[in-house]
Parts: sequence; C-alpha cells; structure tokens
Amino acid sequence: MAASGEPGRQWQEEVAAAVVVVGSCMTDLVSLTSRLPKTGETIHGHKFFIGFGGKGANQCVQAARLGAKTSIVCKVGKDSFGNDYIENLKQNDISTEFTCQTKDAATGTASIIVNKEVKTLFNPAPATADLDPRFYSLSDVFCCNESEAEILTGLTVRSPADAGKVAQVLVERGCQVVIITLGAEGCVMLSQSDPVPKYIPTEKVKAVDTTGAGDSFVGALAFYLAYYPNLSLEEMLKRSNFIAAVSVQAAGTQSSYPYKKDLPLDLF
Ligand code: ATP
Repeated sequence: MAASGEPGRQWQEEVAAAVVVVGSCMTDLVSLTSRLPKTGETIHGHKFFIGFGGKGANQCVQAARLGAKTSIVCKVGKDSFGNDYIENLKQNDISTEFTCQTKDAATGTASIIVNKEVKTLFNPAPATADLDPRFYSLSDVFCCNESEAEILTGLTVRSPADAGKVAQVLVERGCQVVIITLGAEGCVMLSQSDPVPKYIPTEKVKAVDTTGAGDSFVGALAFYLAYYPNLSLEEMLKRSNFIAAVSVQAAGTQSSYPYKKDLPLDLF
C-alpha cells in the first residue's frame, strides 16, 4: 500500500492493490454433453457457452468480489477473446494496469466438456393442457405416454410418425429430449440436438396386465441415466422397453416389476 505525498488528496485514491495476482486469464469454451466422446468421436452437445476462467483471474475475481482492491499481472492476445477478457476484469473492478495484450500469441482458451450426468427426468402424469411452461425447459428428459402427449399438445397420436410430430411441438416448447411411449409399439424420441425423431420399437409380448407399464419404463430409464450415463439414449430406451415389456406379462403394478437378478445380464 502507498500513501499519497500530495497534500489534500484522499488516502483511498492512492491505495495500491492489496491483492496482486500474477496468473493466467483463459477463455473457457464450454460444451455440455450427455457423455464424454471417445477418442476421435464426434458427438452432439446440448449447449455451448463462452466463459471467463484461468486460475489467476479466477482467484483475482473472487478476492475482488469480496471487496479487495485487486490487480492482475497477465498477458492476453490482441484478439476478440483478449478484448472481452479485459472488459471482464474491468467489470469486476480489477486493475488492468499490468494486463498486456500481444499480437504474437492468441488468448489462452480451455476447451471444457461438462458431462452433465445428474439429469432431471420429468413425467407429466396426470397431464393437464395448462402445464406450467417451465417444466418443458427445466427438465432434461421429458417422458410421457401417447394420451398425455395428446392432452399437452391437442394433437392426435395414432402412430410413431404422429408421436414424432408431437415430440417436435414439445421440443419447440423447450424440452431438451422428448420421449413418447406407445404401449406395445415401443417409444419415440426426439432431441434438440437431432431434429429427426427416432422410433424405438419393442418386441410385442402377450400382455397380461399393462397397469404401471409406463412407470416401469420411466423407472428403468432413470436407472440407466443414473448408472449408465455413457450409454446412448437409444440404447437406454431399448433396454427400458424390454424391462417394461417384462412388467406387462404379470398381473399387478409393482408386483409385476422385475428384479435385476431375473433379467438378462446384457441389460447391465
Ligand atoms: P400405464 O399408464 O399403464 O403406466 P402408460 O400408458 O404410461 O402405462 P405405455 O405407453 O402403455 O405406458 O407403455 C410403456 C412402455 O411399456 C412402452 O413404451 C413399452 O416399452 C412397454 N409396453 C407396454 N405394453 C407393451 C406390450 N404389449 N408389449 C411390449 N411392451 C409393452
């Protein structure tokens, strides 16, 4: 800290930074995906955003937000990321007196893939036509049966193709992923990242009692989302179809739900 030698000037104005950080400023390029790609693989992401990071700047921003008078010693590129970064430092009340821009190198970037595994699976049952619109955008996976889909959209669902059209309407309302179950026909899925609906048929079985088949399906899907996040959604749905199909072959609701030990090993 330094006090002013000039008479009459306020001490406050002349206080040097109490926290000086020498460290990096990095632009974070963040992709949200359902799983991490394998080497050389291209996968769809749900979201992309640009953020401000870098260990030096992070620490400096936190100290500044607690009220410290801060300054950062760092170098960014003379490029748009660098310009934006300096603006960000200023907005956080960090002195940029020792922040340099160079033409010789680009601003550092960090490509970050967030494997978003804790997912929200929403089953709008019983459905109402006036469902709070926030449910569409706040759920990662929106799963309903054909009659619920009809109530929500006012459209008729008689076939997988119809379900695809209804799913499109629900995606337009903000759903990331829509799944519509179709009884013995299996289900249809549509996601924001792939505009073509996918029909996932199931092996038709002789149903004894279909009560609770939808809940068996949703429960199985929740299991796969939580424990097998690296499976493709299509594969999760095939397996959920299978488990729900087992449930319709016995009477009752929970009494018809299979245990892991009674199911084929390749489901796990
Ligand atoms: P419920 O209201 O009785 O819980 P639901 O109407 O919500 O059921 P459905 O769409 O009828 O749910 O069925 C859910 C899933 O169960 C289907 O996507 C499918 O995987 C499976 N399923 C239902 N009926 C059959 C069947 N006859 N054969 C094979 N699978 C079936």
